[in-house]
Amino acid sequence: MLASYAARERNSRGRLFPEEAPFLRSEFQRDRDRVIHSSAFRRLEYKTQVFVNHEGDMFRTRLTHSIEVSQIGRTVARALDLNEDLTEAICLAHDLGHTPFGHAGQEVLNDCMRQHGGFEHNLQSLRVVDLLEEKYAAFPGLNLCFETREGILKHCSRVNAALLGELGNRFLNGTQPGLEAQVANIADEIAYNNHDVDDGLRSGLITMDQLMQCRLFHKHYSGVIQHWPGLERRRLTHELIRRMINSLAVDLINTSRGKIASYGPGTADDVRNAGEGLVILSQEMAEMQQELKLFLRANLYMHEYVKNMTRKASEVIRTLFSVYSSQPDSLPESMGGNISAEGQVTGQSVFYRRIADYIAGMTDRFAIAEYEKHCGMHDERSRFFDNRTSRL
Ligand code: MG
Repeated sequence: MLASYAARERNSRGRLFPEEAPFLRSEFQRDRDRVIHSSAFRRLEYKTQVFVNHEGDMFRTRLTHSIEVSQIGRTVARALDLNEDLTEAICLAHDLGHTPFGHAGQEVLNDCMRQHGGFEHNLQSLRVVDLLEEKYAAFPGLNLCFETREGILKHCSRVNAALLGELGNRFLNGTQPGLEAQVANIADEIAYNNHDVDDGLRSGLITMDQLMQCRLFHKHYSGVIQHWPGLERRRLTHELIRRMINSLAVDLINTSRGKIASYGPGTADDVRNAGEGLVILSQEMAEMQQELKLFLRANLYMHEYVKNMTRKASEVIRTLFSVYSSQPDSLPESMGGNISAEGQVTGQSVFYRRIADYIAGMTDRFAIAEYEKHCGMHDERSRFFDNRTSRL
């Protein structure tokens, strides 16, 4: 059933540590299952997508975001005769390295790590599956297949890519990842653009009137209102978002089919050497999606309320980094307390990397609890995250 250019386990570049073939499952199903059983995956439940976890139970978290990405990714992969299991594994794992408090957390941690190699959340996702998960006796991490790891590493600086061997090559020589990775990448964008519209409307920070300036929203709004004038607001919102996701997914499938057919790859490696991505939206749809993205950036992510939470989140991360750096004994033994003495004398970068790993792995609420513990409950700053005042 798979296209000749889909990823196949018999052509896989394999795992870092060779293992027996799985019984009854494919190699990529095994990868997906390993991701689901990882502790980093469970912690996504309490990590911010846009709204901090305690702001309301109805908003997306990194966990529900990852599941929505996977749902869109699987649909597209199946329609294109690609490897659905691999696509699902990549989608579910793509945000495993995300810090608490979303992008604010990652930017501050990168800033704190400036002298020590920096911090990239994509690279951190790879670090989680390659190194940080402690699940197996025989190897560190989850020992996933090359193709899954290739998909997880969406972006990477040239400096870091040079340290990654075969996996980093494409960032140095401009080749493409496999089609399953390309699907996961665009599924991520489709998912967050649409669920952020939903969460933005629910929060009241953006309005339908404002969204009318986005062609994609306007087009579907007109269509729905024509058929169901006076539709109740909540059903209207969901009907609109459902139609937007569907139109993006259908466009992606049709345009990619045409693009793949015109390039005519025979194998997955032909795809890697195609010189450009083959999983793409039509130009018109890409422009409409970009419009939506810019709208969300200007009106939701840069909204004063969200920016205020971002400032508080930055303060938490910055404070924790400084506390752990200056008082290594405050780190739990498993996360670097035991290397503190050695780290201060010799392996400085190892020491700071452990701190970054520890902070990046935290959930929002654990980071806030650590912050309150180290700053004192009565410190003015610890009231930053008072649930009663910050809840939407
Ligand atoms: Mg994502």
